[in-house]
This record gives sequence, structure tokens and C-alpha cells, in this order.
Amino acid sequence: MERRKTRQVVVGNVPVGGDAPVSVQSMTTTKTADVEGTLAQIYALAAAGCDIVRCTCNEEEAAEGLAHIVSRSPVPIVADIHFQYKLALAAIEAGVHALRLNPGNIRKPEHIKLVASEARDRGLPIRIGVNAGSLDPDIAEEFGGATPEALVASAVRELDYFREVDFDDVKISVKASNVPLMIDAYRLLAETVDYPLHLGVTEAGPPPAGLVKSTAGIGTLLSEGIGDTIRYSLTADPVEEARAGRTLLEALGLRERKNVDLIACPSCGRAEVDVIQVATAAQQALEARNIPLQVAVMGCVVNGPGEARDADLGIAAGRGKGHLFVKGHVVRVVPEAQMVEALLEEAEAIVAEGIEARIAAADANAEAIAAAEREQLIELRGVDVNHSLDKIARIREIADD
Ligand code: SF4
Repeated sequence: MERRKTRQVVVGNVPVGGDAPVSVQSMTTTKTADVEGTLAQIYALAAAGCDIVRCTCNEEEAAEGLAHIVSRSPVPIVADIHFQYKLALAAIEAGVHALRLNPGNIRKPEHIKLVASEARDRGLPIRIGVNAGSLDPDIAEEFGGATPEALVASAVRELDYFREVDFDDVKISVKASNVPLMIDAYRLLAETVDYPLHLGVTEAGPPPAGLVKSTAGIGTLLSEGIGDTIRYSLTADPVEEARAGRTLLEALGLRERKNVDLIACPSCGRAEVDVIQVATAAQQALEARNIPLQVAVMGCVVNGPGEARDADLGIAAGRGKGHLFVKGHVVRVVPEAQMVEALLEEAEAIVAEGIEARIAAADANAEAIAAAEREQLIELRGVDVNHSLDKIARIREIADD
């Protein structure tokens, strides 16, 4: 995937833009003045794959909290500023690694330029965080509302203020909760400037709809090469945001796999186990161990191993058994009750010994047992597991009567 060429800014020790990997961001939901609570959330976010964390700096106590938080945080901290430019100056004093300013909420040019001058002198980047819901009223009136052009104009006007004080250590976002608007605004922005872009669908709401909307917006742009850092804005535990962001980047091949990629069949009438239950148990057990493999859970041995042959490791259900396969080779057949445990053991063995070694260590009879059981199942269940052909014949009889 060819990515749009941009300048680069550095947030703490995380580069954004240029040839840097796309980074994941999230925002704490604690009161920033609650230093221990906020740090606990920051650590949980970092463990979930978050590269940069934003904390609100909405009052003096929050700025004081940041003074304690920044030096103890495992990842760079961005202060989120609305309305009060003095809190931006306070956050800089607290040692944050970057600021986010909302141009719709801090509108006096002299205040904007003062903050930019301070950031320039301290070498701190600023994100111009335009939001369709809080667009500068002048611009909304000029453009007839929050159009893509209006969102981009707001960012450009802020850039012009920054340039007046020789500051251009900038990344930009033009978020909206309406996905097509957000996509069009970022496309236009990408044509207009060469600064790194922070992508997000704002106020996306709770999962699953919030996840779908965010993925639709962010994923569409990333697949076009647009976007340098991302945030899922979910009405949920922010750890969910970080996980979702990380998962999207891994799914698009934009970041190396850090944790398990669990694939599972959707299940159907042919399934020999409760696929949802086994897949959920496997996901939880594997995620807790940070195992960077693609693991498949398939509901039957008739189609499962073939369909998931590219997975590093998988298990397919037979009659009361699980057929464990590594890169499509059946290596063991285990009792159904031990499917998840066997997956975990094999995953850890692959991480320790490698794929080839585990294929070489396969049980000698596993392939033969699996093939025989597959044949039996085809014979037993047939191709018409729901007896649909019988039903159709009966329906036709009824219709012909
Ligand atoms: S793997 Fe088997 S159970 Fe799962 S969807 Fe395919 S045919 Fe159905």
C-alpha cells in the first residue's frame, strides 16, 4: 500500500508521518487530576497497543496532574485543550509531549499565536484538531455548515496563524461523526497540505456500531494511503479503542502483528461444536499470552482444515474430537473438551520451536485418523446436513397437489 508522502513530527519518542509506522492513539476517561487512576489507564492502554495517549487539560488541577503523569507515563502524553489558551500554556509547563488545540474553541489569533510560539520554543508539536460539531461559527456561516471545505478551511486558517510565528510542527485532524463527510474532508485536506494526518470518526458511539463507523472511515482512508496516526472514538473503555486501532492496522498490514489474529468460521449446520464458545475461549486465552500467530477455529473437519490451511495453527471439530493442524498439516487429534487447551499448548510450542519443528513433531497417525474421520463425517452427515433436498422435494409435492 503506497502511503501519502508527508512531513514528520515527533511526539515524545513516537514519530508521526513521513516513513513512520501509523500509530495508535486513545484518550483517558479519568479526571486528569486523579494521577494514579489516570496512570493506571495509560498503562492499560500502552499494554493494549496504544502508542500515544491524550489526556484532557480542562482545569488547573488537570495541568497539575499532568506534571506528575508525564514523567511516569510509558508513552508520550498529549494535552487536549479547548477554550482556555492558558491551560495550553500550563500543559506545556507540565512537560507534555504535544498539544491538541480545537480551532473552533480557541479563536483569538493572539492567543493561538502565543501558544504556538511557546510550543515552537519548547520543540513541541501541536495537532490542529478540527471537529465538525464545534466548527468556528464564522467558517460554518461562510461555507453553509460543516462541509468538507469548511473543515479544511478551519485547519488552514489555524495553520496561517502558526506560520505567522514560524511554527509548523503540526499534524491535523478534521473529524466528523458523519462518515462520508469525514472521508471527504480528509481527502480534501490530503490534497491541500503535506502535514501528517490524525484520523478519526468523532463520537462514533458504543460498539458495535461505533467500531463499524470508525473502521469504515479510518479504514477507507488508510487503504488510500491517507493517515499517519489514528484514534477510534468509542463510547467504551478506551482500552477497546486501542485494541481496535491496533487490530485495524495489523489487518491492513500497516503494523506488525503483536498479538493473536484469531480467525474462525461463522459456523453452520455442519458444525460439530459450539464454534462461538470455543472461539471466544481461545481468543481470551491466546490474547492473555500475547501470542503473535494467526489461529483458526473451525466448526467441522469436512471443510475447516482446508479453508484455514494458511493459518499458522488451527483446530477443527470432528465427532467429539478436535483436529489440531499447523499450516494445514494435522499434527494431533485431541478430545473435544481439550480443544482450547491443546491450541494454547501448540501455540506456545510454535513460538518456542517454530512452525517447521512442530510439523516435524506431528503424531505419526494424526493425518490418517483425521482423514478417516472426515470420510466418516461426510458419509454420516452427507452433503445435505439440513436435509434441504428432502424438504424441497416435499414442498414440490405439496405445490403439485
Ligand atoms: S468450517 Fe464447517 S462448520 Fe464451519 S462454516 Fe465451514 S462447513 Fe460450517
